[in-house]
Amino acid sequence: MINRRQWLYGVGALAGAAAQPGGVPPSGAKQPEQARPYPLNLSDFVPTSMLQVPEKRVERARFPLIDFHTHITMSANSQSGVALTSDRKFLGTTEELLPVMDRKNIRAMVNLTGGYDKGLGETIARYDRAFVGRFYTFTEPCYERWKEPNYPQVQVQAIEQAFRQGARGLKILKTLGLYLRENIASGELVKIDDPRFDPMWDACGQLNLPVAIHVSDPLAFFTPTDRFNERYEELNNHPDWSFYGRDFPSNAELLAARNRVIARHPKTQFVVLHVGNFAENLANVAENLDRFPNMSVDIAARIGELGTQPRTARRFFETYQDRILFGTDATPHGDQFPQQVFNDQLYEIYYRFLETDDEYFDYAPAKIPPQGRWRIYGINLPETILGKVYFENAARQLKVAS
Ligand SMILES: [Zn+2]
Repeated sequence: MINRRQWLYGVGALAGAAAQPGGVPPSGAKQPEQARPYPLNLSDFVPTSMLQVPEKRVERARFPLIDFHTHITMSANSQSGVALTSDRKFLGTTEELLPVMDRKNIRAMVNLTGGYDKGLGETIARYDRAFVGRFYTFTEPCYERWKEPNYPQVQVQAIEQAFRQGARGLKILKTLGLYLRENIASGELVKIDDPRFDPMWDACGQLNLPVAIHVSDPLAFFTPTDRFNERYEELNNHPDWSFYGRDFPSNAELLAARNRVIARHPKTQFVVLHVGNFAENLANVAENLDRFPNMSVDIAARIGELGTQPRTARRFFETYQDRILFGTDATPHGDQFPQQVFNDQLYEIYYRFLETDDEYFDYAPAKIPPQGRWRIYGINLPETILGKVYFENAARQLKVAS
């Protein structure tokens, strides 16, 4: 019989050594150094979970779905985070996308970054018009004309033109609030609720175009990139994603400015992306959903946050089941961002999160969790909620018949 202390310090240590892959001496060999703690680079640490629980593979979504948040095209020229041309980079062809969509039960993809003017027209021709009902494209503000004195009117005309071209909504990247400055790349940051954008929000309301808006970023991006930061590796890999210091507003200031816009334009529908850009605080998102009937959210690139709080997340889905949209942030060939790379594996993870009660699994197809060192739990939604989240809530915003 061993006591607890012996177990902790004796047997436990042996079991730990035996579990180490590679470099472990055959049993009986005496290697006293191996028993001592030794430094290990965080990037070399790839622990294997010893947990043995059922694993379910969900190859196809339970219902045909609309992925409300993808990036099939993007601006061909951006400076200091501001897109400055209507020209598009085409990230994936329909020949590549459609077979994955068919395998995964994706009826349609919403390409949020369709740009405006010529680039928007080309995008709609290549995707939306070539495969009707499979692709929907959103327009974006033309910040390259921001310096023109009549920008508010120019922007309204651009929205009207985009609507005539076939755009299904307006996308706002975090450019607004975090990158766009008075002189585009220099001067003071332009605020999200700057009145020069008011006519644009109103035009969307009048034309019945939903606004997919991304403001701010994970809370950890506003804190120092140090050993206390839960997303240290992610920020270390992408130092330009940090909004800590300099003249950046706080997360709270950004969300407050966004809320003022939503409040000021009650006839405009706002789909606040990435779980209202505050997946770490669902109570806050719920409070805003209660305040603003014209607000919905998508879940793109945030199952990492939702899946660490499966009980709170499930209650959130139950309460707001009519206002949560399925989205992934999927980007064809976006291999450097595994949490949003467009492939079969990514969709299977989302389906597993939404449809099963599996425990402690990876939220991204990657050896090392790319957003933070944790794993997630499924929330096992009932079919009634799945149908709404996968399809109906997005169909309503896009005016698509089911
Ligand atoms: Zn996105």
